[in-house]
Amino acid sequence: MCALPALDGKVCGACLRRRPAFDRTLAAFSYDFPIDRLLHAFKYASDLALAGVLAEPLARIAAAHPKPDLLLPMPLHSSRLKERGFNQALEIARLISKWLDIPLAANACRRTRDTPSQAGLKLEERRRNVRGAFACDLDLTGKKVAVLDDVMTTGATLNELSRILKNCGAIEVSAWVVARTLPE
Ligand SMILES: [Zn+2]
Repeated sequence: MCALPALDGKVCGACLRRRPAFDRTLAAFSYDFPIDRLLHAFKYASDLALAGVLAEPLARIAAAHPKPDLLLPMPLHSSRLKERGFNQALEIARLISKWLDIPLAANACRRTRDTPSQAGLKLEERRRNVRGAFACDLDLTGKKVAVLDDVMTTGATLNELSRILKNCGAIEVSAWVVARTLPE
């Protein structure tokens, strides 16, 4: 489910102990050199030309899986959006939506509060940090949704958004990420 390697090649121990709200994860890369540098340049140096480079490998993997009804980028809080000028997840989602012909729900969900950075927080703290941080007005009854984010670190943020989407009626949520942080 969370794309961490498991001994039997199936579900990792953490997901077995506590099932995440998303049903599967597709990740194009592990979060390592040089992808970490590319993602950083994309996000903080606003090198938007990198969107295509990062989106394409993920699109290839996604194309080999059943198509969701809707593609939803991880929302950015409005204050961060103002600061950065763009939502990196939306830029990648735009391309994949176009290439794979999946409807894009660009601004259907939002962050209700600006959560402190998750960096340096343990999993439990991350879960608490993002609890109740999203709102979504969509009626997703019977829908299969893919949520797109640039990086999955612990999965706490994607888990919280997925929980909200399930509350809105989604029957299946897939997490699509460019890179997944793997344990040392
Ligand atoms: Zn897992």
